[in-house]
Amino acid sequence: MKKNPKVLYIEDDAETRSLMADIIRYRGYQFFEAERGIEGIRLAKKVLPDLILIDLRLPDMDGYEVTTLLKSIDELKDKPIVALTAESKKNVKELTLAAGCDGFINKPINVNEFLFKIEEYLSGRRDKLSTQDQQQFLQKYNVELVQKLSKKIIQLETINEDLSIVNKELSQSKDELARHNDRLFYLNNLANFLRKRKTPEEVLKILPIKTIEGFKVKRCILFRVDLSKNQLTPLHYSGIELKRFKYKKFPIPLELMLTLKQKSGLIWVRNNTDIFDLQLEKFSKSLKTSSFILSKLNDLGARSDTTQVLKSVTELENEEDLPQKYILFIDKGTDGEPMETYEVRILKSFIQTVGTIYENMLLYHHLLETYKIREQQAVTDELTNVYNYRYLMRELEREINRAQRFKMPFSIIMIDIDHFKNYNDINGHQMGDDVLKKFSALLKENTRKTDTVARYGGEEFLIVLPGVKLNRATEIATKIQALVEQEHFPNQEKQPMGTLTISSGVASFPQHGEDMKSLLLSVDQALYSAKHQGRNKVVVFDR
Ligand code: GH3
Ligand code: MG
Ligand code: MG
Repeated sequence: MKKNPKVLYIEDDAETRSLMADIIRYRGYQFFEAERGIEGIRLAKKVLPDLILIDLRLPDMDGYEVTTLLKSIDELKDKPIVALTAESKKNVKELTLAAGCDGFINKPINVNEFLFKIEEYLSGRRDKLSTQDQQQFLQKYNVELVQKLSKKIIQLETINEDLSIVNKELSQSKDELARHNDRLFYLNNLANFLRKRKTPEEVLKILPIKTIEGFKVKRCILFRVDLSKNQLTPLHYSGIELKRFKYKKFPIPLELMLTLKQKSGLIWVRNNTDIFDLQLEKFSKSLKTSSFILSKLNDLGARSDTTQVLKSVTELENEEDLPQKYILFIDKGTDGEPMETYEVRILKSFIQTVGTIYENMLLYHHLLETYKIREQQAVTDELTNVYNYRYLMRELEREINRAQRFKMPFSIIMIDIDHFKNYNDINGHQMGDDVLKKFSALLKENTRKTDTVARYGGEEFLIVLPGVKLNRATEIATKIQALVEQEHFPNQEKQPMGTLTISSGVASFPQHGEDMKSLLLSVDQALYSAKHQGRNKVVVFDR
């Protein structure tokens, strides 16, 4: 007998295993354990135990089967296998030996007797049936085995069938998932496409077309909700004939709006015959539809902040300019299956997304518009619509910097209306204002976009001419002077010179001033000279 023999115990009950471990280790042997038959076979192949103890009842296969399998393995066929069992079945010992076990021990065990016995098996003891018994019990064992095997085969077949059903279901749901994934991906792209439109109006315009494309429905109409008139006005639509709906309005009773609200914004009618709501029935009849969806697109009411912000920031007073409410009507069409719940769910989420895109865009565009207007207002003279003094100062500063950097000259013209006090005194302030407006328009019309025309104060104007040298600036000033003289202003003949005239001073950078202050001083002096020389004149600064 080996010094530290290896003992493998195959037993499903953990407590029994741990008890056995104590006994075996106490005896000085190495102990290995397995809970199931298959696990025991694997472990036996790995550790090549000197003795295998086996429980006859195991969860996956019984001890006989495990024994048969162990004995069929070359490296293991000579290792003693001893069955341990509490089974009281008749001839259990004989059956065990016929199955290939080399010994049999009854449970519960007597520790001393047990240890003595396994030492015997380790030393070479092998229990054997007589040849006659062996034949008899082997036959019996074989019959039992065949019975068990056929039972198992039937079991396996059922399991197999179940598995193939599960498999089929799995592959179906996999397909379904892939399809859903494709749908979501497509709709996400669609939402992004809408998000990239230039204006909120454009989003509304293409929404019906895109809804038909994305959801394979027959008709889609975007309605504007007019609550004060209780009606829906078709705004954009797809899948229907234009002329049928062009001037048609659809009554939308308040009750229907309420129902819509109660249904959290979406009414889904699978079939006309299911309709319980009278208003809804009327609506479906007027649109000649049987399976449809009615969904709100946006809900500015729920987001009172939006309307509030728009009102306060953009000074939108006109109710018609305020954001409108829209409803989307989607007709599945008479032919084909009604929509699946899943499809309606993603449709709802799609509409919500588009609604949010639309509202955010609207808000953004209004704010941008307002911002542009405010920015323009901040630099414009209210009466004359030319740039104001503040902007002029900034622009002059910038022009001096540019001119210095690029070594480019520029010129300025300062213009003052002659005897304007007289004009006001005779014709009144209002007509004086009209002259200022007309004169400003004339200045703008006769200068380039890149020139800056600004009101310097009262009836004095200044023109900045980037890149223009003194001679050319003088020509321009002279041309303007002539144009004013030719222009007809009401009661101009009552002016001291017999007509309305202007005086201008011209100065250039850098020769008449290298900074803003000195340049302005120069041009002012030139203008003063023009007045001094009798008015209706253009004078170039001369130091
Ligand atoms: P001069 O030829 O010397 O320039 O004589 P003038 O009368 O034009 O000059 P003055 O400076 O004596 O008077 C300028 C007048 O311009 C006085 C003022 O009532 C008028 N004026 C200034 N701003 C406005 C305005 O916004 N609207 C109107 N209607 N008149 C204005
Ligand atoms: Mg004047
Ligand atoms: Mg003046």
